[in-house]
Formats: sequence, structure tokens, C-alpha cells
Amino acid sequence: MSQVKILLDENEIPKQWYNVVADMPNPPTPPLGPDGKPIGPEALTAIFPMSLIEQEVSNQRWIDIPEPVREAYRMWRPSPLFRAVHLEKALGTPAKIYYKYEGVSPAGSHKPNTAIAQAYYNQQAGIKRLTTETGAGQWGSSLALVGQKFGIQVRVYMVKVSYEQKPFRRSMMQTWGAEVLASPTDQTESGRKILAADPNSQGSLGIAISEAVEEAASRADTNYSLGSVLNHVLLHQTVIGQEAKKQLEMVGDYPDMIFAPCGGGSNFGGIAFPFFADKAAGKNIRLVAVEPTSCPTLTKGKYAYDFGDTVGLTPLMKMYTLGHDFMPPGIHAGGLRYHGDSALVSQLYSEGLIEAVAVPQVATFEAGVLFAKTEGIIPAPESNHAIRACIDEAMRCKESGEPKTLLFNLSGHGHFDMAAYDRYFQNELEDYDYPEEAIKKSMANLPDVDFP
Ligand SMILES: *Cc1c(COP(=O)(O)O)cnc(C)c1O
Repeated sequence: MSQVKILLDENEIPKQWYNVVADMPNPPTPPLGPDGKPIGPEALTAIFPMSLIEQEVSNQRWIDIPEPVREAYRMWRPSPLFRAVHLEKALGTPAKIYYKYEGVSPAGSHKPNTAIAQAYYNQQAGIKRLTTETGAGQWGSSLALVGQKFGIQVRVYMVKVSYEQKPFRRSMMQTWGAEVLASPTDQTESGRKILAADPNSQGSLGIAISEAVEEAASRADTNYSLGSVLNHVLLHQTVIGQEAKKQLEMVGDYPDMIFAPCGGGSNFGGIAFPFFADKAAGKNIRLVAVEPTSCPTLTKGKYAYDFGDTVGLTPLMKMYTLGHDFMPPGIHAGGLRYHGDSALVSQLYSEGLIEAVAVPQVATFEAGVLFAKTEGIIPAPESNHAIRACIDEAMRCKESGEPKTLLFNLSGHGHFDMAAYDRYFQNELEDYDYPEEAIKKSMANLPDVDFP
């Protein structure tokens, strides 16, 4: 019988983060200031501590994880790797399916992996408050959890539609001591600007980022914390892939393909980048980012310099983007409703070194329900995207008879997303068409940048 749960000991929590920049064929594209010239570290010191800025631009392959961060990781790490024997059987596939389960963190997703590191470095820099945004509530809960642990006050700008649809994510953040506001608020200039244009705005991640950045930039005791997209966030998430590699080694296996849901790219980078190191050294492995067809950043976006937020307060980053004022349809995978993507993921994709696929909403829930029925865990709607793509590959293996080894990242559980499952069961979930007109309109507002 094959082993179902593959577990590591606490002393096997990685001691270093892996920086993919060291193995990329080309140096990363630099972020640009409003004048279209590359920015220096000083441009970021109003909202980030120097230690994180250094990680943001580092090209060192390995970066030591501070002992207090490893100590905090012990709360739930190492996370388990599972062999999906029951799902394999239900599909009748010759493929072997493994999944790394990040839902065992107290917040229920991979996001505390970076929240802990960010809170630690800010505490070391004497910062007392952090502002941030949250869409579905996963990132806000993660930062709230660790703010408590490191003695930092956390204020969360939560996208209004989620604030109303997900009251329990809000209570979770409040339980851990965070303050939660429905964004757009009337407390920042960015929020007031949005409300003046549309008093009924339901908010978006891009708007909430504008509000959180604006507040952090205006207060000396306050920094800003981002849950995805940035290089240092993806760096922190590489504990996932490093552990998974070791766990697969324990059962004598190695993946042919890896799948992860992709919003800003952090859990994808987290599981895929440590394997990219092998790919760069010549190993044959395919790394697949999975996104919603309604917010198809990699598969339908443009590789261009754009803002990370709606109002245009952040530096310009070269990334696949649908336009910084694109308002994605209200799908239930809130963590995947973002107009842009990580610069590192975008660059690797543009060079053909990683792949991307888009899947429609109803099919993702169908996959998630089959997974819950066979494997037991109820996945987050975001994770359902990876499950869908992995099942599709397993079915291709069934046709071809190929016994591939597939690995996906089960980035979180769906215990706070049952309203979305209810809507699926009542046939009320829609497959949004590719929002062609809206994307055309937002693409027309891309900043005009002339940088090589
Ligand atoms: C936030 C989130 C995602 C998407 O964000 P990435 O930065 O792309 O990882 C995926 N799954 C879950 C459970 C999330 O909370």
C-alpha cells in the first residue's frame, strides 16, 4: 500500500529561503518610478523595512531564515504532503497525484509563511503598526494572526464585497486583534476619490492596496505589508517547495508536472521555484500556474509596465497585466481577482520557462467537490483551480496510459467559503465570459512607459 501522509520532523523546517533570481537566465526587470527611471531602495523606505527591501533586490541563491521566524513556523510547519490515492482511484488514472497541504496553518492558507517573516522584520525595525489589504480575507487573517504574535497593530482594508459576504473572515481578524475596514473607505484620499466616482463601489484589491499604501506612507510608525506579488513574498513562500521536494524524495518520487493556483503568484512561486532550480540545471519538469478565465492575467494579459494598485501609488512593475483599473467579475475565488502578477512569475512566463492555463468557475467547483468527496479536505475556491488543472492532466494520462507524477499545491481550506459551495449546489454559480470590453478599456489606461 502506498503511503498516504508524508511527514517531516520539526527540525526539517528549511533553514534558508530559495531565491529563484539566482537561477533565472536574465536579471529581473527593475521597478520604475513615476519618471520612468529605475527606483533605488530609498523610494521604498517609507513603507518597507530595509531588510525586506534588500531581499526584494537580492540575487543571492540562499537567504537564511531568522531563528525567531523558524520558531514561529513550528506552529504548523512542516506541512503534510499527501498522496491522493482515493482521487486517483475515482479517476481511474495511471497518474500518481500528490498534494502539499498549506491549509494546516491557523489562518487556513499558505499566507502566514510570509506574514511571519514580514512581521518579524518590521518588529526588528521598530515598526508598531502595519496596514494591508485583503480580498477574500485570507491575507488579512494571516497578518492579524502574526501581528498578535510580534506585538504589531494591524489595520486591514478589506474589499467591501468580501467584507459583506464573508463576515466570519472579518471576525477571525478581529479575534486576533486586527482592525478591519470596508474598502473603499472615506478615511483616505484614495478611498474618497473612488467613492466620488462611484458611491456604490464594491471595492477591489487594487483599491484596497491604494488605501493601505497611502496610510503607511503618511505615518512614520506604520509600514505596509503585501501578501503576494513582490519578490520577497515569493521568496518566503519557498519553504513549501523545499519541503515538498524532501517529502517526495522520502517516497522515491519526483514530479513531472506541478500545478498551483495563481493570483499574485506567491503560492505558485512557493511550490514551483525550488523545482525551477532543478529545471535550470537541466531537469525535465513542467510548472503550471492556474488562473480563472474571468481574470486571465497570464493567458490573456499584456507583458508591460503597470501599477500594482488602482490609484497609481505604487512603483511601476513589468508584469502580465489586465490594466490597473480592471475590475474583475465577482468570482468566489477572491484571492485570484487581481489585475497583475508577480514580476518574477511574469518574466519566467514570458521566456517560456513556466506555463499557464485558465479554467472556468463552475468546473473548478466540480473538481473541488470531487476532491472533498474522495480526499476529505474541502478546498479553498482558489485551490480548486489547481485541482481542476491537475485532474484534467490525470485524465489525459488515462487516455494515453502515461503514469505521470503530478503535484499540486492545496493552498488553503474552504471552511469560510461554504456560501460559495452552497451557490454551486444550487446551480447559481456562473461562468463569466472573458470580459473582453472591460479589459480593452482598462488596457487603454496602461501607463505610457518607454523602458527597454
Ligand atoms: C491568496 C490565495 C491564493 C492566491 O494568491 P497567490 O499569491 O497567487 O498565492 C491562492 N490560494 C489561497 C488559499 C489563497 O488564500
